[in-house]
Amino acid sequence: MAPVRPLPLPPSPVNFALETDQSSNREGFCLRSDQAKQKPKSSQRNLRRRRGGRKKKMKAPDTMSSDDELDLFALLEYPLAGCRGDQFRGLYATTDIKKGTRVIDEVPLFTLPEPGDVMEHVLDAFFGLSDEQKDMFMELPPGWPPMLVNMVHFIDPQLKVMEDLIAKGDEISEYEEEILIRLGNTVEPLMIEWRIGARYFTHRFSLVHNSIDPTIDEPGDDQVTGIFPTAARLRHSCIPNCNGFYDTKTKRFRVQAVRDIAAHEELCMSVLGSQIWYHNADARADLLRQYCDQCNCIACDPAHLHRTSQDVTRSDIHNRVLPIQDFLQSLHSTSGYKFYNFAEAEASILELIRLLKVAGCADAELIRWRLALILEIYPCMKGKWIQCLAQAQQALETAVACLGADHHYVSFLESKIVYIKQRAKFDRQRRR
Ligand SMILES: [Zn+2]
Repeated sequence: MAPVRPLPLPPSPVNFALETDQSSNREGFCLRSDQAKQKPKSSQRNLRRRRGGRKKKMKAPDTMSSDDELDLFALLEYPLAGCRGDQFRGLYATTDIKKGTRVIDEVPLFTLPEPGDVMEHVLDAFFGLSDEQKDMFMELPPGWPPMLVNMVHFIDPQLKVMEDLIAKGDEISEYEEEILIRLGNTVEPLMIEWRIGARYFTHRFSLVHNSIDPTIDEPGDDQVTGIFPTAARLRHSCIPNCNGFYDTKTKRFRVQAVRDIAAHEELCMSVLGSQIWYHNADARADLLRQYCDQCNCIACDPAHLHRTSQDVTRSDIHNRVLPIQDFLQSLHSTSGYKFYNFAEAEASILELIRLLKVAGCADAELIRWRLALILEIYPCMKGKWIQCLAQAQQALETAVACLGADHHYVSFLESKIVYIKQRAKFDRQRRR
């Protein structure tokens, strides 16, 4: 099952012990805390050489998210024994939040065009930020991105030599001091690159939008990844209470409460998009591992009673979705089914929607399947306009809650409802 929404890369740091133990020197050693804001001269030289003078288009941020959001949540340490520090923080509701509330509406610190993972582009974007924006970026806890492993293997042995030389204090010889300076000149720019990369590759979000339905016009965007410092603090859950998405029209990352959230509850979203609904806990753990993330929600925690029932439901969803997808694809293929059984397809999709709701889904995935009924199934069945209208109204309600009343899906569904009402009225009149 392909993800229907942009696949945000994991906002939460994992592998905490590894990161904390092994990165501490790269984080603090040798450099003053504000030095990463300055591009080191040697680094500038190296970058210019590697870039060959070519300038890549970057988007500059304007303003940050509104202050109103701060009243809804706070960045707090999560209540796990022994978890202290910035790596162990999440966003917690400070007040009751109603379903459909927009909790985050954030412009990016910066975005990158394709391919979105070139370190030189990341550094260019970072050094183009104001000091305040650089602080916001550096406040994000560093992760352990696999793409920086080679850099770590290069930096760490040199850091060890430097540490040993510094430990000699006044007994250091002139020759050793020279080595120390030389190593510092090599290692310093790499450490700065690591500190920036360890945050960027851990917290970036994909901006690539997968349409929920091919008939809906989607505004495009030439940027493929971006950093959103507030949304980056949201941790993953497989039963999320928030829906996060990049709005290509407004170029903002938006997070909506998909159900009522009580004060003190943690705000969570899926970093795997809609994939969470189609895989059992082991498969989700494999997917999250690719992003160095992990999940302890009630659908993943082996000690939790709900894990087994969640696994059964999501396996059932997975098995049911495949024939439905085949059927829908066959409607658009010339060598499709010989005899279409729309009544069976309707029943299958309705059951799929029911199961998604049982699993805890309250997001755009429900809209996707209701749209399949509205656009593909009911128009091919006689006397189903009333059912079609009911599905469209429920899809609209979900869209307003999980995407916001100003989202283009809402206006699309509103216009569909007007059309369906006309068809339903016409049908009723014809039957009299
Ligand atoms: Zn989970």
